[in-house]
Amino acid sequence: MKYYQIEDLLDVIKKSGKSYEQEKIMAAYQLANDAHQGQCRVSGEPYISHPVAVAMILVNLGMDSECIQAALLHDVVEDTDIPLEAIEKKFGKDVALLVNGVTKLGKISYTSREEQQAENVRKMLIAMAQDVRVIIIKLADRLHNMRTISVMPEQKRRDKALETMEVYAPLAHRLGIRAVKEELEDISLRYLDPVAYQEIERMLELKRGDRQAFLEKIKSKIRDRLASEYKEIYIDGRVKSVYGIYRKMYIQGKSFEEIFDIYAVRIIVDSVFECYNILGIIHDLFRPIPNRFKDYISTPKPNMYQSLHTTVIDKEAIPFEVQIRTWDMHHTAEYGIAAHWKYKAGISGKDKLEERLAWIRQLIENQKEADDVEDIVRSIKSDIAPEEVYVFTPKGDVISLPTGATVIDFAYAIHTAVGNRMVGAKIDGRMVALDTPVHTGQIIEVITTNSKDHAPSRDWLKIVKTTQARNKIRNWYKKERREENIEQGRSELDKEFRRNMITLPENKMNEFLLSVAKRQHFDTVNDFLAAIGYGGVLLSKIMPRIKEEFVKQYRTAPPAADELPEINARPPKKGKGTSSGVIVEGLDSCLVKFARCCNPLPGDEIIGFVTRGFGVSIHKKDCQNVVNSINDPNNAERWIHAEWAMESAKKEHFKSTIEILTDDRIGVLADISIAFSSMRINISSLMARELKPGNNMVTVTFMVSDIDQLNFIINNLSKIPGVVSVARSAQ
Ligand code: MN
Repeated sequence: MKYYQIEDLLDVIKKSGKSYEQEKIMAAYQLANDAHQGQCRVSGEPYISHPVAVAMILVNLGMDSECIQAALLHDVVEDTDIPLEAIEKKFGKDVALLVNGVTKLGKISYTSREEQQAENVRKMLIAMAQDVRVIIIKLADRLHNMRTISVMPEQKRRDKALETMEVYAPLAHRLGIRAVKEELEDISLRYLDPVAYQEIERMLELKRGDRQAFLEKIKSKIRDRLASEYKEIYIDGRVKSVYGIYRKMYIQGKSFEEIFDIYAVRIIVDSVFECYNILGIIHDLFRPIPNRFKDYISTPKPNMYQSLHTTVIDKEAIPFEVQIRTWDMHHTAEYGIAAHWKYKAGISGKDKLEERLAWIRQLIENQKEADDVEDIVRSIKSDIAPEEVYVFTPKGDVISLPTGATVIDFAYAIHTAVGNRMVGAKIDGRMVALDTPVHTGQIIEVITTNSKDHAPSRDWLKIVKTTQARNKIRNWYKKERREENIEQGRSELDKEFRRNMITLPENKMNEFLLSVAKRQHFDTVNDFLAAIGYGGVLLSKIMPRIKEEFVKQYRTAPPAADELPEINARPPKKGKGTSSGVIVEGLDSCLVKFARCCNPLPGDEIIGFVTRGFGVSIHKKDCQNVVNSINDPNNAERWIHAEWAMESAKKEHFKSTIEILTDDRIGVLADISIAFSSMRINISSLMARELKPGNNMVTVTFMVSDIDQLNFIINNLSKIPGVVSVARSAQ
């Protein structure tokens, strides 16, 4: 294993011909070298060799000085006791952010579970959207780790290879960094399918002698032909990567001989015009194979790759691919997003970088809308898979879709309304079924209807391949059933509010609901209700917060009891009902009094206290006096079980006290007493006092038969204009 030292890095920097901030890079090296002092890699070489190697990869990719510093420092925070703040102080905010980003990405623990993997990819994408250099450093880090992975145990090699194949290589592909992508794939394949890897290597090996000669012959033939018109032309030849061949043989089921682009000759020129001109000459010089011409100049791949591809054969009958592109396109093809730093440094503002990042943002957006983990996995899998198909609208616009996408996906890719109104589709002029997958080059026509009754089918959810289409269909159903959802949400909310004694006059209630909705990130109360209706918001989860907020805003005194328990519907236990309507455990007949501190009502959970000489006194179970006394060892055994005898209780009347918070509207007090008399409730006492300017507390004591009646009263009082809240008294 090669032990890289700082001299190697300086050498690469010198050869790059780019001006780097050498002093800062040296300072970063010094710090890293000191920090990693004494640490070794598994292979035995000093640890510093790894960050130096990563920095070298980044120089070769053309990355900037900050990236090189961050690369040298990338394991310092994680593996040594130097804090991030120290790095920020010495190297600035940007370098610290890069180091932090790479450290965080390293901390994400990977498991073989699918959703875990998807979640990790998502995190990486988000990190990338913030500063894509973090991912490029991480890719370089992974590349060096993969290059040196042979020293690791078997299981670890396989795990890392799988992860690299599933996560890092597709990212490199999407960022257009071809060289890194191909190397990551080839190394991974060696550990994932060693038998096939060796077989392909052997096939390439067998022909190695001929191969170079063959490529040379083709190149000079082209050069001779072009010599009169193009004096200094760049022609290069390459052999397809092992994994590229593997895909065609093992995934597409082709034989080695059927792979037309094992050999490729690349011609690089200055202008687009020259590309097409040379294409004509090539087709004149060799025999083109039909249907093998691809124009990625007028239709770039999603990762911005541009080139003309054509496959031709000469007298040897060995097919080879000719790629023709400009230098600009070539840099993009080799370095992808990194070309932004390598060749465009200094150019600011919107350029291709923005376009490249657009798909990342789109992917993240789609995931936010996705409802469950499975969706996320599916969207990652389908959206990140390197294969794409390109199809055309009847007008000739190009739509790119993932492989396997159907005509429905196509319709939604054009426009939401086109998808929602779709009734049929034609491929190349022929009617097809809606689940027909589309293939590159097809012209697709969507047939729509204007009928108001038309709806996208729910079955489409099972057919579509893109997250975009799936979410759009879902949204249609979400929106169309909105009224229903709002109604459902309102009734659920009402029920919960009643249970929690959250009552307010209508105008105050609307105000309160809006504040609750806003807190849950909804713009309107109806949006909030609709979300409750379709299950997007779980009331059981947010009720405690809502209640807390209600108390904070509208109650000046603490609430009477946390919650009114449900009426106890259990039949009374054996034992005689007493005249008081209460059954006390173990006591057939005894004197029962109701405690004045809490005025329990039938329906309340109760408990009895054996007094000295005055029978049993009944309290609410959550009465403050009970809570205080029941833990007192002197009293503990005097507390006894008690419950309501439901039948007889109805006939009885019990004292109850409520507190009504009002504003200072004239006549509100009169309205309250009118409400009591219209409900035929006798008030035993009524007291009003000013709390603070503008607010009054009215305390009313009266007789009721049970908790249902009390709730009925509270509910009615709440509707009186000027009443802010009504609550059962704590005392
Ligand atoms: Mn590392």
